[in-house]
Amino acid sequence: MPGPDRPKMPEQQIACSICRKEIPLSSALTPQGAEYIEYFCGIECYEEFMAEQKASESNVSDIPGAPGVPSAPGKSGEPGK
Ligand SMILES: [Zn+2]
Repeated sequence: MPGPDRPKMPEQQIACSICRKEIPLSSALTPQGAEYIEYFCGIECYEEFMAEQKASESNVSDIPGAPGVPSAPGKSGEPGK
């Protein structure tokens, strides 16, 4: 019998977007339909993330044209290339 010595593929580890804990990719939570992929170690971190998203969304849409929008001219505000 061939020995079971073949090294197992290590499961990919990713960091939770909220608490930065490393978790196996297969057990990470990922929001459906998000524009970008985020990973969460559990529903608590997921819900915290969603709450933050909602909070920042309502902040922006509630006050159109508010002067409080943080922009960084010269850094991310510049198209560059
Ligand atoms: Zn987490």
